[in-house]
Amino acid sequence: MTQDQEHKEETGVANQTGPEQSGAEEAPVKKPSRRKKQESPKQLAGFEDMDISDEVLRAVARMGFHEATSIQKQTIPLMMRGDDIIGIAPTGTGKTCAFGIPMLEYMDLKETRIQEVVLAPTRELAMQIGEELEKLAYYIREVKIAVLYGGQSIGRQMDQLKKHPQIIVATPGRMIDHLERGSVRLDGVHTLVLDEADEMLNMGFVKDVCRIIDRIPPTRQFVMFSATTSQDVMTISWKYQHEPIQVTVRATKQDKPQITQYVIPVTREDKLDRLLYLLDSDEYGRIMIFTNTKFMAHRLNATLQKNGFDSEELHGDVPQGKRSQIMMRYKKGKFPILVCTDVAARGIDVDDVEAVINYDLPQENEYYLHRIGRTGRAHKHGVAFTLMSFTESVRMDEILKYMKSKPTDLKFDDAGILRKEDGEPFFENI
Ligand code: ADP
Ligand code: MG
Repeated sequence: MTQDQEHKEETGVANQTGPEQSGAEEAPVKKPSRRKKQESPKQLAGFEDMDISDEVLRAVARMGFHEATSIQKQTIPLMMRGDDIIGIAPTGTGKTCAFGIPMLEYMDLKETRIQEVVLAPTRELAMQIGEELEKLAYYIREVKIAVLYGGQSIGRQMDQLKKHPQIIVATPGRMIDHLERGSVRLDGVHTLVLDEADEMLNMGFVKDVCRIIDRIPPTRQFVMFSATTSQDVMTISWKYQHEPIQVTVRATKQDKPQITQYVIPVTREDKLDRLLYLLDSDEYGRIMIFTNTKFMAHRLNATLQKNGFDSEELHGDVPQGKRSQIMMRYKKGKFPILVCTDVAARGIDVDDVEAVINYDLPQENEYYLHRIGRTGRAHKHGVAFTLMSFTESVRMDEILKYMKSKPTDLKFDDAGILRKEDGEPFFENI
């Protein structure tokens, strides 16, 4: 145990005056790593020196990774050591495994209380984190993970909880639900992770998140991951973290998603036709189209389907069961075009999205970053198109200033052919 940890536990006990503390049971102590690694697969650069167990290393190799990403290299050792962390890294840099790997290392497989909690802003993201953790735990059969989110029947979640999961991944609202019902108790939790913390707090979950943290013993390790820092993130950190270490990873060439951004000026009347032109090119296997409103996503999807495209819509008005089903089918490549709003798509990791199209320009600068971050993941190349009407050009300038990046301009000529700046047609086959 490090001195920091000892210090943390001392302060923890001193602080243990909150009304939520039952005090009846022993406060959880983070146990030393359960399994020692035997031999590590050679090809896993960056992971070998981290004291990761053989089972997890094998799972990582099975997932097809060859090298740890920057955020993983920097935060895994800190998290293994027990530090509180604020990890800031661009989307698509592997943050889930950055916390998932240490979580699996520090788990007492015999303890029946919940030991580790991950909070995520949306159901889709919670499900996705659950899946990634399952993959990491592939060779540790005893690990049980429950994923709790709104829209799924409480009964089904109760069944999961009765199996005594060590890990819970939840959206804040549903976690509060379970706490109120008494179906979840957090007095055995030694590790708490907030994923997409900026977004979660931004969505109005500050109070819920605080209520949840208040139920967890103060001796916990508390780690936050976020694409950006925000006032709310810093406030929660100040209130609840012990001597946090901030790790900021800028997009390096290697980690940064390879995304080419194109901006295409269009008139408002032409927008739909221009979109159909992009889709007609048949250049991209998997496409995400972003709109700002549920209504627009719905209408646009209906129009695309009427025009013979194989598309589906994902937004807050689609019932939960259907949303999960659509996501699953999209991930499996059952249909190529997904029309969606920001909240529904936040954090979603679908491999091989080849093109992102901004049908509407996002109202928040950060959303632009998150949207285009859906493509170019896991070191693959992606493209992002923004269809920009005249009234949106001011917003576009703001976004580009925020992004500090320079997109490539494309233009439709009078004959309706999309051309590069040098006049060459953008698509060869149209
Ligand atoms: P973030 O949360 O930072 O947006 P994710 O954790 O969703 O990113 O990871 C993005 C993708 O990269 C996922 O498909 C994940 O499996 C993959 N990935 C994670 N770590 C690595 C790695 N070390 N090497 C290659 N791919 C990785
Ligand atoms: Mg993530």
